[in-house]
Amino acid sequence: MTNPAISIIGGGLAGCEAAWQAANRGCQVTLYDMKPHSFSPAHSSADLAELVCSNSFRSDDPTSAVGLLKEEMRLLDSLIMAAAAVTKVPAGKALAVDRSLFARFITEKIHSHANISICRDEIRTLPAEDDTHPLTIMATGPLTADSLAASLQEITGEHLAFYDAIAPIVVTDSLNMGIIYQASRYEEGPGDYLNCPMDEDQYKSFIAAVTAADKVPLKSFEKHKYFEGCLPIEVMVERGEDTLRFGPMKPVGLPDPRTGRDPYAVIQLRKENVQASHYNMVGFQTKLTYPSQKKVFAMIPGMENVEFERLGSIHRNTFVCGPKVLEPSLQLKKRNDILLAGQLTGVEGYVESTAMGLLAGINAALLVNDKKTVVPPHDTALYALIRHLTQTEPKRFQPSNINFGLFDPLPRKNGKKIPKRFRGQIRSEKALQLIKEWREAT
Ligand SMILES: Cc1cc2nc3c(=O)[nH]c(=O)nc-3n(C[C@H](O)[C@H](O)[C@H](O)COP(=O)(O)OP(=O)(O)OC[C@H]3O[C@@H](n4cnc5c(N)ncnc54)[C@H](O)[C@@H]3O)c2cc1C
Repeated sequence: MTNPAISIIGGGLAGCEAAWQAANRGCQVTLYDMKPHSFSPAHSSADLAELVCSNSFRSDDPTSAVGLLKEEMRLLDSLIMAAAAVTKVPAGKALAVDRSLFARFITEKIHSHANISICRDEIRTLPAEDDTHPLTIMATGPLTADSLAASLQEITGEHLAFYDAIAPIVVTDSLNMGIIYQASRYEEGPGDYLNCPMDEDQYKSFIAAVTAADKVPLKSFEKHKYFEGCLPIEVMVERGEDTLRFGPMKPVGLPDPRTGRDPYAVIQLRKENVQASHYNMVGFQTKLTYPSQKKVFAMIPGMENVEFERLGSIHRNTFVCGPKVLEPSLQLKKRNDILLAGQLTGVEGYVESTAMGLLAGINAALLVNDKKTVVPPHDTALYALIRHLTQTEPKRFQPSNINFGLFDPLPRKNGKKIPKRFRGQIRSEKALQLIKEWREAT
């Protein structure tokens, strides 16, 4: 009897992880990648699993959200995590790798796996529905080649977003509510937004600091291609000193209850989750470097001691609106014979993309063996990502890194909130126990 077959398009982080998971479950995998015949604007190596920018997988502390996600994947025999362990370089509390050794290690593992064949070809269209074709995982990443992206768009009927604007997320407990006030524009009474008011001097100093701050250099293919609706703040500042005051920092309709007057400018914060433990800086997508963001945003009144759950960024991206088009198994709602994996699903980052490869690989193997697909247990980082992809209100959907804001709040202890310094450890212990029990089902 031949093994059930799976095709995977894209040999990046997610595609390699999916191939590994499915092949280890006895499936016959064909992994397609267009390299080295054709490269995306950010890829340049012939090896699979190429890291296109930083060499860091971020914190390795299992009490941080991204550290926990990595630990969950290690428990599930992740190839990418194994490669990172073998090729890591010293980087304090972060897990960073030698990118060439890392990609080589993975390429060799995939090459030598008895159940995987590699095919170096660009795939231009997804298989038609009535074709007899193997179950397909599409894992072609944020820079998916154009014709294949168009083919996916044809199936989903949804526009694929092409720019990924990520505004910083702040921790509510770190905000100074002696200065910040609650109000929604033009509405009576305390509204849903938190507002950081600025007077004229504060605004001018802030604009000068944004102008002078270090920015992450643009890749050539990113230049001049921003959507007008999601310009980075520093690009708006280049257009004139008052541009932000007429954009995301517009103060009108937001009187400060202490003065009864609209301030000169306002930074608005919008709830990031139902429990309001985190807020998003509205319209503050930016390419300032991380150290600059920390320095410049601490100038905002009420944010002197701000803690960030996530900092801002913007780059080209291709992703679906998960809540509209994806099942929790990562199958397309309209085509159950196709699963998405990696950054295409609407997660953000190396670790998160790998995680969505891991789950797609597991579910594809279950499907071709006529078994039910699985969803990771509640209260794990893997589940938090799947829930973000499938249950966020579609209008609000934006790609996300893993962060504890995507988890349910921890129950109170003796009527009191558990102090922040203990929360990561509590979450981590519970999640890892759940994954150990769950892996038998996969
Ligand atoms: C410019 C840029 C910088 C980034 N920097 C970071 C960072 O510093 N840290 C971070 O955590 N994340 C970063 N990201 C996000 C990062 O790309 C993803 O997190 C991760 O690489 C996505 O993994 P993936 O497997 O989904 O896609 P990829 O790793 O991009 O893999 C996709 C693969 O599919 C192949 N492919 C594409 N189209 C086709 C086709 N039609 N046929 C066959 N093969 C195809 C490509 O050759 C590639 O090998 C960055 C993204 C971009 C675009």
